[in-house]
Amino acid sequence: MVYEFDAVIVGAGGAGLYAALEAGTTAKTAVISKLYPMRSHTGAAQGGIGAALGNVEEDKPEWHAFDTVKGGDYLVDQEAARILAEEAVQTVYDLENRGLPFSRTPEGRIAQRRFGGHTRNFGEGPVHRSCYAADRTGNMILQTLYQQCIKNDVHFFDEFQVVELLLDGTRCTGVVVFELKTGEVHIFRAKAVLFATGGFGRMFRITSNALANTGDGPAVLARAGIPMEDMEFFQFHPTGIKGMGILITEGVRGEGGILLNSKGERFMERYAPTMLDLAPRDMVSRAIMTEILEGRGVRGDREIDDWVMLDASHLGRDVVESKIPDIADFCRTYLAIDPAEEPMPVQPTAHYAMGGIPTDVHGRVDTGGTVYEGLYAAGECACVSVHGANRLGTNSLVDLVVFGRRAGKHIAEYVQNVTHGPVDEGAAQAYSARVAKLKTEKGKHPGPIYREMQSVMTAKVGVYRNQSNMQEAIDTIRKLREQFQDVRVQDTADNFNTEVLAILELENLLDLSLITAVSAENRKESRGAHSRPDYPDRDDEGWLKHTLARLDGDKVSLDYKSVDVGIWEPKPRVY
Ligand SMILES: Cc1cc2nc3c(=O)[nH]c(=O)nc-3n(C[C@H](O)[C@H](O)[C@H](O)COP(=O)(O)OP(=O)(O)OC[C@H]3O[C@@H](n4cnc5c(N)ncnc54)[C@H](O)[C@@H]3O)c2cc1C
Repeated sequence: MVYEFDAVIVGAGGAGLYAALEAGTTAKTAVISKLYPMRSHTGAAQGGIGAALGNVEEDKPEWHAFDTVKGGDYLVDQEAARILAEEAVQTVYDLENRGLPFSRTPEGRIAQRRFGGHTRNFGEGPVHRSCYAADRTGNMILQTLYQQCIKNDVHFFDEFQVVELLLDGTRCTGVVVFELKTGEVHIFRAKAVLFATGGFGRMFRITSNALANTGDGPAVLARAGIPMEDMEFFQFHPTGIKGMGILITEGVRGEGGILLNSKGERFMERYAPTMLDLAPRDMVSRAIMTEILEGRGVRGDREIDDWVMLDASHLGRDVVESKIPDIADFCRTYLAIDPAEEPMPVQPTAHYAMGGIPTDVHGRVDTGGTVYEGLYAAGECACVSVHGANRLGTNSLVDLVVFGRRAGKHIAEYVQNVTHGPVDEGAAQAYSARVAKLKTEKGKHPGPIYREMQSVMTAKVGVYRNQSNMQEAIDTIRKLREQFQDVRVQDTADNFNTEVLAILELENLLDLSLITAVSAENRKESRGAHSRPDYPDRDDEGWLKHTLARLDGDKVSLDYKSVDVGIWEPKPRVY
């Protein structure tokens, strides 16, 4: 079938829904989502959304922007960070007005708590900046935006999976979409398409990310010849539940929780004397890994499971039950531990992609030289770049709503002045034939390839990376991509064939793993989350530049784009 809309939004997380809401003010808008919208990963966000409201103590957007730049180890585009911090305030109030039930201060204002790397007066000490709804902030954002979209007549296509991009030169004219329920392949024609498909943490074995976070948007665009920006920067969150990776929000440390090694030492005193447990995530993750590597971690069953302790027991039961109720629940369910009484066992977990689809501050896909007409991206799959080499906690939710909203507004304007471009309707049949081939021939099961990819990415392109490890990862991923050609399904049904989807998603993860590993091997310095013992220092002379990595068969060609350092001069990061 061929559908026609003015605007197609791919993804129903925070970024996609906000964009849809704004685009829908003038444009006939469809949201295509492989999940039912409320199951998007935004719903898992616990800690909060950063905005300098100043409800608990003095705060300013300028301080927020500075913290974002410094936290990102100066690889952040500074004008974009300024917009992020300034528009965060209005956007949070906008969400409040649309019905978001924030937690409150005793005076009835939106409550705020501390989070890593967020400081007052350019680094003096921690500041209360994270607005939250208990530890269910993302869920509340989704509820609010979804109900507003429904109210405003946005069309939803749930459990429809976008598989290809339709381009006419550098103009986007639509997408090719696989419908889970029927197995049919459709064409969606559109004047503007926005990708908001979220992250791709599933390329790693220990990850906080949901099963669906397979980077479909960036992979589809990469295969259409669009380069990806800064893919070497992947954030490892310091506190995942040991062995499982399920996230324990930084909000626990924001409320006063502390990290301890096996000797009971508060080891962050040695790594970040001012910010302590609230230093940025890259630093805390490295501190934990160093404690473990030097023998002061707690031994797990397997080496990969070694951990340290996150202690919130001194906060008292009232704080634990009111401020972090879902975390307390996870710990009881998965670990049989009550965090009001005992420390939680934690280890770094692959959490957030700083890199992704390169965009300008209006969400338009912009590779530094070429702006793709009618093609937009926002949210975790995009790289504006406001997170640079390391994202601060609470800054992703801000990114989603600020840049999702901006992109939606731009689309609302743009579609009024253009007509639909040409689409190749044969693309649907060609894709159907590809899916049919997966069913008719006998071949390999995708499971072993998936597991090997995840293991090699966690072990070799993890918190610490060196040359030989990354080269090994690149070689392994290349081999797995070849093996992937022989993967076939066992289930040949047309209806609800999730096995087909799993194969398409594995292909996306393999492509993005290759781009990530090659970009990482290429960057010969340590900056933010990219930490190389063989090149331990940040090298601004050689490497203060964004990577652009273009996928071309089994090769990745590399180019660069300059960083906007127009406001603050790069300095060493001290916390
Ligand atoms: C456990 C956890 C806790 C977090 N806590 C916080 C926090 O407290 N504060 C903070 O700032 N950040 C937090 N983050 C990060 C933040 O939640 C995410 O970066 C953000 O929610 C991503 O939002 P998104 O809109 O870009 O994508 P998502 O919310 O991931 O949504 C992606 C959407 O794309 C759709 N999609 C994907 N592929 C396709 C396809 N091929 N076809 C059609 N649809 C597709 C999905 O159906 C989904 O609707 C957390 C992340 C995790 C994993």
